[in-house]
Amino acid sequence: MTPDTNVPLEPQRVDALGAKCVSCGHAWIVGYAPIALSLMAELAKRAMCPKCGHTRPDVASDSEVLRLLRKEREA
Ligand SMILES: [Zn+2]
Repeated sequence: MTPDTNVPLEPQRVDALGAKCVSCGHAWIVGYAPIALSLMAELAKRAMCPKCGHTRPDVASDSEVLRLLRKEREA
């Protein structure tokens, strides 16, 4: 196994905003920090499910966001 060169994720700190579709359950990352709060709010407002096109997702939980970030880093 190769050593992980990424900075380990801290459970109390999530540097991304995730959304979770209320229609199909798909979760995805909407935006990454650091980002202007107003821009993050705009991204959240415009979030649309990439799977089914639903336009009113919930905010994903921190644990869901961590799961997505870990998945991304493994890719
Ligand atoms: Zn969906």
